[in-house]
Amino acid sequence: MSALAPFPGSTFFHKGQRSPVIAAMGQRLVAEKCGKYRTGPGPEWTEVDQQSYAAWQHKIGLKGADANGIPGKVSWDRLQVPAKAKAKPEPAGTRVASPAPGHGVTTPYRKKGPHWSLGYHTGADYAAPEGARCVAVVSGSIARSGHDVSFGKFLVLRAHGFDFWYCHLSERTVTTGSVKAGQKVGEVGSTGNATGPHLHFEKRPAGGGFGSDVRPIW
Ligand SMILES: [Zn+2]
Repeated sequence: MSALAPFPGSTFFHKGQRSPVIAAMGQRLVAEKCGKYRTGPGPEWTEVDQQSYAAWQHKIGLKGADANGIPGKVSWDRLQVPAKAKAKPEPAGTRVASPAPGHGVTTPYRKKGPHWSLGYHTGADYAAPEGARCVAVVSGSIARSGHDVSFGKFLVLRAHGFDFWYCHLSERTVTTGSVKAGQKVGEVGSTGNATGPHLHFEKRPAGGGFGSDVRPIW
């Protein structure tokens, strides 16, 4: 478990106060179904934070002045606010920069080499640690999921007449149905023919077999 934010004292929570700890608190309140936020939560202390916190105090059985929405030590410690707010996931439906967010191409498309059966690399590789997130690069649907000697555990995202292959996965988060751009679909691994954890990302015309690859852009 990650480090918790120590109770900053009740006087810390006043109008105009800004702190990442307030955003982290808000995220915990939302997780506890106490969030009253229409937008956010954010780093600035607002009345909505106070209303949300009061809901938490009521939830754990506090009453009267102990449930006025200003954090006290007991309720704060129960809430277990992490020291760091979670990074916001990119909003679903927007263009994503990489099928393995935070990671770039390490072996490019069409690189030539004797260890590839067609004499060239049919996709682009994104080296990343085992378990790193793989996301849908565009909105579409999962057309196929399976296991292959070369490609290991794989998923095929179909969109706009093309198939996007996610290969060597350690985990598949979704195996069927529609997905939004930016939505997690699996995790990087080294299943199949791989020397280390990476995502092999390949694009083909929808339904196209091995060798029908095109430049993996989206
Ligand atoms: Zn590859």
